[in-house]
Amino acid sequence: MRRQVFVRPPLPELPMEGGCHCGAVRYTVTGRPKAVNACHCDDCKRLSGATFGLYLHVAAEDLKRGDSARDTFVRTGGSGNPIRIERCAACGTRMWHLPDAAPDLVILCAGTLDNPDWAIPTSHIFIEHAALDAVAADDALAVEGFKTTRPELWARFDEIYLPGK
Ligand SMILES: [Zn+2]
Ligand SMILES: [Zn+2]
Repeated sequence: MRRQVFVRPPLPELPMEGGCHCGAVRYTVTGRPKAVNACHCDDCKRLSGATFGLYLHVAAEDLKRGDSARDTFVRTGGSGNPIRIERCAACGTRMWHLPDAAPDLVILCAGTLDNPDWAIPTSHIFIEHAALDAVAADDALAVEGFKTTRPELWARFDEIYLPGK
């Protein structure tokens, strides 16, 4: 993947708001995200209808999800564990992934934020499947497959946004 230096916008003030295309599903993020992760795997291409998926890793307790109607699709993750994918029941917007193996974590589809402009990936995974024109920020972690761990993704986010922490 090509590298480029970006001037990263600061993290937005909390809470952050977001929702689906039709507005039936709304959510509030009340805590600092753990990562902005881009996944270039084939599943994320199909699920997004684009060439990669862009996600915030958010502590489950920091995402107020309400009880609006959502459809659930269960896929099997690379680890063999089920991941529940929730979409707005009315408009089909994919909202988040809920990994059964990590019930404390929500993988939030970053494009559903009301303001996603700041969300430049702090990490990229499955880069061997990245589109030819894909670009990674100079300071982002970039790994083939998922040859890393979520805590490593989170550590890079902290290094970028909370230097000296
Ligand atoms: Zn909707
Ligand atoms: Zn993926």
